[in-house]
Amino acid sequence: MGKPTGFKEFQRQTPNETDPRLRILNWSEFHEHMPESELRTQGARCMDCGVPFCHTGSLMAGMAAGCPVNNLIPEWNDLVYRGHWREALDRLHKTNNFPEFTGRVCPAPCEGSCVLGITKPAVTIKNIECSIIDHGFDQGWVQPNPPQTRTGKRVAIVGSGPAGLAAAAQLNSVGHEVTVFERADRIGGLLMYGIPNMKLEKHVVQRRIDLLATEGVKFQPGTEIGRDISPMDLREQYDAIVLCTGATKPRDLPIPGRELKGIHMAMEFLYKNTKSLLDSQLSDARYINAKDKHVVVIGGGDTGNDCIGTSMRHGCKGVINLEIVPESPTSRAANNPWPQWPRIFRVDYGHAEVAAVFGSDPRLFSTTTVEFLGNDKGEVRALKIAKAEPAPPFKVIPGTEQEIPADLVFLALGFLGPESPVAEQLGVKLDGRSNYEATHGLFNTNVPGVFAAGDCRRGQSLIVWAINEGRGAARECDKYLMGKSDLP
Ligand SMILES: Cc1cc2nc3c(=O)[nH]c(=O)nc-3n(C[C@H](O)[C@H](O)[C@H](O)COP(=O)(O)OP(=O)(O)OC[C@H]3O[C@@H](n4cnc5c(N)ncnc54)[C@H](O)[C@@H]3O)c2cc1C
Ligand code: SF4
Repeated sequence: MGKPTGFKEFQRQTPNETDPRLRILNWSEFHEHMPESELRTQGARCMDCGVPFCHTGSLMAGMAAGCPVNNLIPEWNDLVYRGHWREALDRLHKTNNFPEFTGRVCPAPCEGSCVLGITKPAVTIKNIECSIIDHGFDQGWVQPNPPQTRTGKRVAIVGSGPAGLAAAAQLNSVGHEVTVFERADRIGGLLMYGIPNMKLEKHVVQRRIDLLATEGVKFQPGTEIGRDISPMDLREQYDAIVLCTGATKPRDLPIPGRELKGIHMAMEFLYKNTKSLLDSQLSDARYINAKDKHVVVIGGGDTGNDCIGTSMRHGCKGVINLEIVPESPTSRAANNPWPQWPRIFRVDYGHAEVAAVFGSDPRLFSTTTVEFLGNDKGEVRALKIAKAEPAPPFKVIPGTEQEIPADLVFLALGFLGPESPVAEQLGVKLDGRSNYEATHGLFNTNVPGVFAAGDCRRGQSLIVWAINEGRGAARECDKYLMGKSDLP
């Protein structure tokens, strides 16, 4: 159980980060690794509390409470404390196919549910997870493990994000022949082309894809199902299909001036930037450049914050981030008790970078955009904004309007579910939120042999949920193909 008195003796410590003013000069990850002795001390803080909540992965008040892939957290905390890194790695891989992704970018609902967190800062679970897997790769312990025998069954997976990759890994491990189709030119979904390099370096993503390919998963990038291959052909050629197409339809802001030049969907900005970075280190100039521009990001969350961090690395003149919701409290409100996900004020990496360079946090809370204002060339030059009432429908408070300058605007207002052509052509039903209809735990759509997992089923969510769903859909798909399944 770690050290019995560890939680009393040791303080929570997270890894050092590169100074925000220096890290914006490059596109590298900025969390330093902790020395082994310090990691073991952090593992020693785990109380093995008898009834741990950190690994429950339930939904409370609409948010994840505990780890959605049910990582065996107290077990590997103890193993790290004792220096048994190899065993810790084996435990971690039992529940999570890709801890190097979640260890870097998961918001760590596990820590929000850590029992120690009731009275003291939670155990640094996410950092320990990342250290276990990084250590495993460094030591050469993470090796391809192809199945001994093949079943002769063929499965097509549409979409190569974390849901598709987790489903592929699991189905391949029990001997099915798996092909992953991806319309982008690189495999990885939002791991590759959504989350920027400074949060998740792309060689880390590629390393896992290469490993899966060596284990026998076939990848077909640059292939859009519904355009290059018809879904009906897939049905004929494969024994089962798992749809993992993500929730890629962005929410727009249809207010006066929306047609002006310089207003972009966040994903256009982030996708082009990473592609240009990977293709040419940005020398092909095939990206939206925020250099010397006044940037306004409308919407918070990971997407909005990634637009801020990317703009900072281009050398923008300033950033304002508009959030329609009120500022959260600095500690849990009475209606947000442990072990729920703490809805508290957080400073993400982009906010910290703006504060370090320009002197203050970029966020304006309870603020809505009334109109985009243009110049005589049809380019955006400013936004008319106003204060909003604190609760939906966030009505404008009269008399609070003001103008803020803007040369570039990024809309990060969330996503409205998956694009539907594939579902339409297969006859897959959509639910009330326009996601593919399938029950969590079963993942089967109304079309026999067609399963759905990840953001296309649950709506825009988290990598850890996508892994949970990809694993679950693989188990159900395996049952459909073989009549039973040993997959977890
Ligand atoms: C900018 C941004 C930052 C984020 N940051 C974080 C974070 O820090 N932490 C976190 O946990 N989550 C984060 N998320 C959320 C997370 O990335 C998603 O929840 C997760 O990637 C969903 O996985 P998925 O496999 O369901 O779909 P996706 O990752 O969206 O992958 C779906 C793939 O399907 C492909 N596809 C779609 N239709 C077709 C077709 N017809 N044929 C072939 N291919 C197709 C798409 O091109 C795409 O590559 C972020 C999301 C965004 C947008
Ligand atoms: S995957 Fe996320 S929730 Fe689960 S242990 Fe890792 S950081 Fe915590």
